[in-house]
Amino acid sequence: MTPYNKEQSEAIFMVKDHLAALSESEKDRLKSECREYLLFREDVGEFLDENFSSICTKKCYDNRLSACCSKEGIITFFSDVVINILYSEEHEIIKLVEAVENGNRGFKCVYLSESGCLWRIKPIVCEMFLCDQSQSEVFDDKTFAREKWEHFRKLEKKFKWPDRPVLFDYLESYFIKAGFKSSLMYFHNSPGLMRIKKLAGLEI
Ligand code: SF4
Repeated sequence: MTPYNKEQSEAIFMVKDHLAALSESEKDRLKSECREYLLFREDVGEFLDENFSSICTKKCYDNRLSACCSKEGIITFFSDVVINILYSEEHEIIKLVEAVENGNRGFKCVYLSESGCLWRIKPIVCEMFLCDQSQSEVFDDKTFAREKWEHFRKLEKKFKWPDRPVLFDYLESYFIKAGFKSSLMYFHNSPGLMRIKKLAGLEI
């Protein structure tokens, strides 16, 4: 198993096992913490479907030239894993585990299957990635769409830019307090993110 797959696999098992041990009411409470983020993701998803799905399917998925899914080591935050597993069915989690355990099936992200991404709620970095070519094709003709996208980029910070308490930091802290540690916990091990937290006077 590659180091990337190993750290993904460890994070998936850690989250899956800990969530399975929580009471239903505690899982519901965690879900309620994520509600605003999921509404944001829904809005972004609708926007992308409306404006980019035809371009992305044609240019990337059909001919397998995708820039966003072609990297083996796409960045995933620990909280991406938590949110995804919190909302995934058992059979979806098994597929994620199989994907990382079987390694990369060639030239794409380990999570890219024949039917698309295996994540139910894919990592935020993937969701917010638009290649230059697709941006130019859509935004050059639609100023309102460009403005909307810029608005979404600002909103994204509410969840993962730690100059204030943010969901992605909160979920990591939740697992750290329960005794877990992962290299994907960037809000607690990335010098850049920790500096932002420190400047904002947040607990490191
Ligand atoms: S996690 Fe999903 S969306 Fe992100 S690069 Fe991999 S297959 Fe693509």
